[in-house]
Amino acid sequence: MCGIIGYVGKSTKAITKTISCLEKLEYRGYDSAGIAYINNNQIIIKKERGRIEALKKELDFNTNSNLAIAHTRWATHGDANNINAHPHQVGHVTLVHNGIIENYLELKDMLEKLGYTFKSETDTEIGCAMIDYLYQKNNNHLKALNELTKILKGSYALGIIFDDDINTLYAIRKDSPLIVGINKDEFFIASDIPAILEYTNKYITLEDNDIAMINNEVKIYHHLKEVKKDIQSFDYEYVNQDKGKYEHFMLKEINEQPAIIYNLLNENLDNNLKDLPDLTHYKRIDIVGCGSAYHTALVAKTLFEEYASIEINCYIASEYRYQRNFYTDKSIVIFISQSGETADTLACLRKVKDHNIPTLAIVNAYGSSIAREADQVIYTKAGSEIAVATTKAYTAQVTILSLLALKCAYKKKIITSLDDIKESCHQIKDITNKLIKNTDYLKIAKKIYKKRDIFFIGRLIDYATALEGSLKLKEISYINSATYPAGELKHGTISLVEKDTPVITILTYDAIKDKTISNIKEVKTRGARVIIISNQELDSQLYDDLIIIPKVNIFIQPILTIIPLQLLAYHVAKLNKCDIDKPRNLAKSVTVE
Ligand code: GLU
Repeated sequence: MCGIIGYVGKSTKAITKTISCLEKLEYRGYDSAGIAYINNNQIIIKKERGRIEALKKELDFNTNSNLAIAHTRWATHGDANNINAHPHQVGHVTLVHNGIIENYLELKDMLEKLGYTFKSETDTEIGCAMIDYLYQKNNNHLKALNELTKILKGSYALGIIFDDDINTLYAIRKDSPLIVGINKDEFFIASDIPAILEYTNKYITLEDNDIAMINNEVKIYHHLKEVKKDIQSFDYEYVNQDKGKYEHFMLKEINEQPAIIYNLLNENLDNNLKDLPDLTHYKRIDIVGCGSAYHTALVAKTLFEEYASIEINCYIASEYRYQRNFYTDKSIVIFISQSGETADTLACLRKVKDHNIPTLAIVNAYGSSIAREADQVIYTKAGSEIAVATTKAYTAQVTILSLLALKCAYKKKIITSLDDIKESCHQIKDITNKLIKNTDYLKIAKKIYKKRDIFFIGRLIDYATALEGSLKLKEISYINSATYPAGELKHGTISLVEKDTPVITILTYDAIKDKTISNIKEVKTRGARVIIISNQELDSQLYDDLIIIPKVNIFIQPILTIIPLQLLAYHVAKLNKCDIDKPRNLAKSVTVE
């Protein structure tokens, strides 16, 4: 979601550098792009609806500039058009913004009474005018920004230029990520560290309400007092924005899964799980996430409850954030996020920390806010994920959660030997590679890609995987699909099943296999086209299509089960000529609530 880049330095290539960094943030999803740069002491603004490519056509990269701010917008207030695109300019102030200013209507009212008029529909332009007003009142840039932090409600990362101080870049943030990159003779601001790695891996993390004043040096202020910050170094092998031989990043990332899963499993099992946190001490475990991350929590729930006898409470972050939470003196809350910047999940983490409850984060992006702020972090080591629809980060999260559950089961001596699971782990690379190469997904996709409604069913752990499979399909193919616990369909939704309605059924969980088979018969009788993903051969009367996945230890099984569903969604989306890596309306890193 939305990206901010800023540059100030000795180089006159500010335009080239900011745009190059902005392109690294493209994967997050956006609908317009813009830049403001200083040339001949003037602030020049260019912005375009659509892709950065369109903006580039409007730019002369030979123009000299030492300072620029650039933005990709994911519209929250007002259509995606050129007027609403950032940067915005009011009076002395030009800025780019990520986030939502929640009290913008109230501020707009006040500013209009003072004579301000507005061109756009955005909350951002109001924030921009507010800074101008505060600057005129205080006659001091820092004081204006400091006062702003007390007035604005909501979330914001801002890159700001004042027209009477055009050699300085100002930056502030609250609940939206922003870092300051540091190189010899030049500085950056950026929404994430990988965006600037082409130039530097040294950075300072801005905390909420820090104000950065950047010219030929960086000074950080907090409530008008200068604060010293450590310069950090980003030393991870993380960024790879090359599609290689693959047509889409999503396909590439699906193909990266065997190695990622293999490494995570074997690295942990070789140490007999000893490096992972022991969750058996806790009396209450909540797991919090959004979207696919929430689905991983549901997968983990079955593993913890059925195999380690530990109750798990799963929550969607945007709900957990505002509901009443129940803790015991032995609670822990686990937060799952690929980007580590998911606004709702981060807000939940802060809420939980306010209650002094221990927190554990399972995160993919190194150095991200959730990773930094949680008491403990486990990195999923999936590498940078570019496709908006998660695949490899999801399976990596499931792998980590499975290992945590396994550790509990082992510690509690419910499982006494790891031999069987080790066997599965050693074979996992070959097994998953073979599974990815199966050509049936395309054949089945051809039969269903024109349908407008598809159902997914499963029970317990299979239901959790079905939810994720359905989400993949919705995200990238725009086909409506609904997911139900298999036994629930007949309590209403089965009325929608008619001749040839696809019902994709997940059937890997032995304990209640026969129950799900009864539910399959119920829909088959009503004419459904039944597609089954199972780890065993089945009576051919039950299905129209059957995808067999290898039967492995239950702690590994859900890692495999999702793969056919990822590829089915991929082929359906491709047949429908959808923009697979950048689906409409979606953002990779959801940094607004
Ligand atoms: N709320 C602002 C807008 O709609 C910023 C959105 C963003 O973060 O890109 O323009």
